[in-house]
Amino acid sequence: MSKANNPKLKSWIEVSADSDFPIQNIPFGIMKKGKGFRVVSIIGDQVIDLFELNKRGYFSGISLDSNVLKSEFLNDFIALGKKKTNKVREKISMLFKHTNRTLKNNEKDKKAILSSVKKANLSLPVKVGDYTDFYSSRDHATNVGKMFRDPANALLPNWLHLPVGYHGRASSIVVSGTPLHRPKGQQLPMGKDKPVFGPCKLLDFELEVAFVVGKSTHLGESITMDNAEDHIFGLTLFNDWSARDIQKWEYVPLGPFLGKSFGSTISPWIVTLEALEPFRSKSPKQTRPKPLPYLRNDKDRNYDINLFVDIVPENGQGKTVCESNFKYMYWNMCQQLVHHTVNGCNVNVGDMCASGTISGPQRGSFGSMLEISWKGTMPVDMPDGSQRKFIHDGDTVIVRGCGEKDGVRIGFGEVNGKILPTKK
Ligand code: CA
Repeated sequence: MSKANNPKLKSWIEVSADSDFPIQNIPFGIMKKGKGFRVVSIIGDQVIDLFELNKRGYFSGISLDSNVLKSEFLNDFIALGKKKTNKVREKISMLFKHTNRTLKNNEKDKKAILSSVKKANLSLPVKVGDYTDFYSSRDHATNVGKMFRDPANALLPNWLHLPVGYHGRASSIVVSGTPLHRPKGQQLPMGKDKPVFGPCKLLDFELEVAFVVGKSTHLGESITMDNAEDHIFGLTLFNDWSARDIQKWEYVPLGPFLGKSFGSTISPWIVTLEALEPFRSKSPKQTRPKPLPYLRNDKDRNYDINLFVDIVPENGQGKTVCESNFKYMYWNMCQQLVHHTVNGCNVNVGDMCASGTISGPQRGSFGSMLEISWKGTMPVDMPDGSQRKFIHDGDTVIVRGCGEKDGVRIGFGEVNGKILPTKK
C-alpha cells in the first residue's frame, strides 16, 4: 500500500472529522478558473490547483506537461498512466503533511494554489467517450425479477454466468449540482393497449458507483482478471436517473433507451483505486454456478464503501431513504471490465462503467425508489408529512459515499441533483 494511505498522516490543512477529504484521499477533479480550467485535488475544504503547484516547482522530479494541468477534463492527466498519477498523489501527500513547512510557510504560493471549495466551480471531471451500465447487484436483480417476472425464478438464466450490461448514453452525464428537467415520453397506461405521451410519472434514482477507465486497449485486445486493475483509474458516485414508465414501455426487446438517457449525475471527484485500497473487501463466493474461466475471481475485489441516498423536498427537510454498501456487488469491477472486452471491444481512457443499482438485502438498503416503495405499493413518509413513491418536481436527490477505517474516512463529495418540472 502507498505511503499516502498511512492512517497516521495528518495535514497542516485543517480537516474536519466529517470531511470526505483527509490527506489520505487526494482525489482528482476539474475546476473552472476564469475562462480556463485547472486539474485540482482537495484536502479538507481547500481545493489544490495542480497547475499552480507545477508552475512553482513543487512537482520537481515528476515531469509534467503544464498544458495537461489546465485541460477541461482529466482525460489527458489520467492518460499519463498510474505510475505518474500515483507519484503526483504521493507528492501532494508529502507537501501537505503537517511536518512539511515548504509550502505551509510560503504565503504567496499558498494564495495562488489553495482556494475554498465553497467558492469553487467544479465541472464535469471526465470527458466520457463511452458509458456502460451494468446490472451487477444480486439483491437488485432479484428484487426487479420478483416484481416484474416470476418470484420463484427471479434471476434470468444468464445472470449468474455474466455481468449483464448495456451501452448507455455519455452525452447526458452531468456533474453534481446540475438540475435536470423531468423527462417526457411515451408510456403505456395500465390496462391500455395504446401509448400516451407526457411527463414521466415514475421518476426514479439508481444508486450506483462508476469506475473510470485509466488505460486504453486496442481493438481486438481483451483485458484479463490479472491486469484489470491497471485499467481502472478511479471511482465516482453515480445516480442513474430512470423514468420507470418510459422504460417499461420501450425496453423490449433491446433494453433501456430514453428512460435512462435523459441524464446521469456524478460526483465532481474521482477517487483513485489506490486511495480505496484500505477498503478492499471479500468478493462473494461464485460457486453455484462457477463462472467460465475468463471471469473467475480468487481475490478480494469488492470495496467496503458505505452509500447513502437522501431525498430533500423543495424548502423541506430531507430524509435518508437508502443506506447501502458497494461491497454488496456480485460481479466486481474487474469482472465487468474483463467481460466488456472479452469480445475484443476496445476501451478508452475516460470511459465510464457504472455498477448497476446497488441494493443490499433489506428494504432500507435498496438502491432505487422502485424497490424501496416496491413498485409504489409502500410509500415512504417524509418529515414534512408528504409521501414518496417516486421523485417529485422540486426534490433534490443526494447520493453520498465513504469508506471508514482506522479513523480515516475516504469519500467522494456529494452527488446532488434537483428535478425541475418538464421543459415545455
Ligand atoms: Ca442503472
